[in-house]
Amino acid sequence: MKCLLLVDIQNGFCSGGNLAVPNGEDVVPVANRLIAEGGYDLVVASQDWHPADHGSFASQHPGSHPFEMGTLGGKAQMLWPDHCVQGTRDADFHPGLDVAAIGYVQRKGENRAVDSYSAFRDNDQAALTGLSDYLLERRVDVLDVCGLATDYCVKASALDAKAMMPGVTVRFIADASRGIDPAGVEAAIAEMSAAGVRIVTSADVTGAN
Ligand SMILES: [Zn+2]
Repeated sequence: MKCLLLVDIQNGFCSGGNLAVPNGEDVVPVANRLIAEGGYDLVVASQDWHPADHGSFASQHPGSHPFEMGTLGGKAQMLWPDHCVQGTRDADFHPGLDVAAIGYVQRKGENRAVDSYSAFRDNDQAALTGLSDYLLERRVDVLDVCGLATDYCVKASALDAKAMMPGVTVRFIADASRGIDPAGVEAAIAEMSAAGVRIVTSADVTGAN
């Protein structure tokens, strides 16, 4: 079974959002084309879904500013602007995304005490979201991962998919993803590739080449 995982294609990570990724919304038409033409048996999506007082927010650390390193649960943590707060427009999927095609939504980041870049488990790797069991129960053997942001949640999701579901082919779709920092994107692609994640384009997936 071939599955597409759309990572955090939410207003908060697109232009005008609280944690906008440069040109984040450009992934929307590519994702829609993949949904229509990628031959997937299943489409799932992750959704960053924070309480208003989430510990990754700089606003919860007096004297700190967004994009500074801080600590959360005793571990180094990038401090973010408040983003994707549960029930707000910022947390909604981008309105252009074909949400009707999404068969399962995995919310993450609900525990204020730990951040969750990966769609599969919290950053401290203690709590699983349940997505790996969901996919394995459905006998997914090819998982394509794309979305926002390449250097954080997409990378973490692809690496965890590879680590937690050893028999599954995991592919990162580069042109259906955007990152925060160009150097970080380059490093993320190298790290994913070294871990056995295949780096592909949407044209490779749809056979448009
Ligand atoms: Zn978040």
